[in-house]
Amino acid sequence: MKNHEIATLFERIADVLELKGENTFRINSYRKAARVIGDLTEDVEALSKLGKLTDIPGIGEGTAEKIVEYITTGRMAKYDEVMKDVSEETLILMKVPGLGPKTVATLHKELGITGLSDLEKALQEGKLKGLFGMGEKKIENITKGIALFKTSLQRISIGMAYPVVKRIIAALKHNPLCKEVQAAGSLRRMKETVGDVDILASGENGADIVKSFVTMRGVTQVLASGDTKGSVRVEEGVQVDLRVVREDEFGAALQYFTGSKEHNVHLREIAKKQGLKINEYGIFKGDEKIGGNREEDIYQALGMDWIPPELRENRGEIEAARQGKLPNIVRLSDIRGDLHNHSDWSDGAPTMEEMAEYAMKMSYRYLVVSDHSQSLHIAHGLNNEELLEQMDEIDRLNGKFKGFTLLKSSEVDIKPDGSLDFPDKLLERLDVVVASIHSGFKQEREKITERIIAAIHNPYVNVIGHPTGRLISRREGYDVDLDKVIDACAATGTALEVNCYYDRLDIDDVNCRKAKERGVKIAISTDAHHLDQMWMMELGVGIACRGWLEAKDVINTFSLEGLKAFCKKKRN
Ligand SMILES: [Zn+2]
Ligand SMILES: [Zn+2]
Repeated sequence: MKNHEIATLFERIADVLELKGENTFRINSYRKAARVIGDLTEDVEALSKLGKLTDIPGIGEGTAEKIVEYITTGRMAKYDEVMKDVSEETLILMKVPGLGPKTVATLHKELGITGLSDLEKALQEGKLKGLFGMGEKKIENITKGIALFKTSLQRISIGMAYPVVKRIIAALKHNPLCKEVQAAGSLRRMKETVGDVDILASGENGADIVKSFVTMRGVTQVLASGDTKGSVRVEEGVQVDLRVVREDEFGAALQYFTGSKEHNVHLREIAKKQGLKINEYGIFKGDEKIGGNREEDIYQALGMDWIPPELRENRGEIEAARQGKLPNIVRLSDIRGDLHNHSDWSDGAPTMEEMAEYAMKMSYRYLVVSDHSQSLHIAHGLNNEELLEQMDEIDRLNGKFKGFTLLKSSEVDIKPDGSLDFPDKLLERLDVVVASIHSGFKQEREKITERIIAAIHNPYVNVIGHPTGRLISRREGYDVDLDKVIDACAATGTALEVNCYYDRLDIDDVNCRKAKERGVKIAISTDAHHLDQMWMMELGVGIACRGWLEAKDVINTFSLEGLKAFCKKKRN
């Protein structure tokens, strides 16, 4: 979806117009367009093709034309015109809380400040004092604003960074000078949020590899470019650092820069006890290098199994590796289907047939169509009759497929009193039932916990969808006692979901592990409303790996028969 991209363009136009002191009405109309497009759940590109852009409240003719222009040509003339004489640095400066465009203009005019580092220096040197409109309070607020801004820049959801990294790695692999290339850091460990993204490459001509990196498509700012290191900011706002090392040091460097810090500290202690030394260049006995070409060398030399990056958090993985007891963690290739998806029968974009075709391309054996239930009006939830019609349509479609099955389901609402949005006699006819909360988030802990547990005790409910309701970037989950939920799932044979949608990743890694330890199965599901969200399965699998889950813990690694048996067992 281009929604986010287009919203960002409008936001930037508004920022710059404000900096230039232009008409407030125009500025506000761009801000409004940015907000409307940013909040839109439908694909702006699809609406544009249908000529329905001006149906969106807040989108007028002029804005619609700019959107169409961007979608068809990849450029927006207005944006290019506005940006001509403004630097990226200045734009960043305007994002600092407490620094409006007017202040930025003053700072530029009076002190020649064009970026954040200029401003920090001027603050340190006390140069802001005495400037027009710069009281002590204002200066204090700017200082605080910078600190806040820097923290907010530090981490983003892995779902934002992951596609960027894939794109960059694919491009670097085209460079014949580049021998190996891999993501490192928290992204390689599939942590739910990441800071700057680190990429590691090997090759003899570092300067040339760095050059191809900093001139890559999508780079908006080059922060550094040298013989072995480059640092850029890309369109998505993410900072990406590339480091090029020698081929025979790649494994050691990859291990070193993957972290986590805690994991590496523990490894170094073990190395020391064995009279060995590890650093980013290799593993050494005295002055003699005994390994480092491959990452496996390091672990082998320390007398343990290679540890998958997702486990490297110093949560017992080193002990397990020494005893040869690491879990055989679930992999994307183990996944045989997706258990939570929305079609155009409710608020999803694709038809069921399109979903099925896409799933077959992903080599899935089955796909669950779990549209919303009747209470969820905003998502066009299905009523009883519509659900029955949908089942007939699924039967018809399944008649056409070979080796693939659409499964009948519903993401049935758990109503505030704990009852379900469809009667049992209807739920009984579904293959898999996902039950979720979409209202009454503010209920007290005891109440909301009982509510979910009531749903778990329904014999037809197989999976609890997005169990905590959190949104990484903007909402804490509801106040649910997940321990009690896990116990109820264990007692009834109900699975918990790892919702893969990048802003949810719910439940998280720690709770996955807890669920596994108590014998609760997990469903890794994308909750896709668009075909191009189905890739997020990779994110969910990453979270599951971090929770030490194996294929046998995850119900959508089961064969179709195995999955059906899992659901049936609870019902009997
Ligand atoms: Zn939901
Ligand atoms: Zn859903």
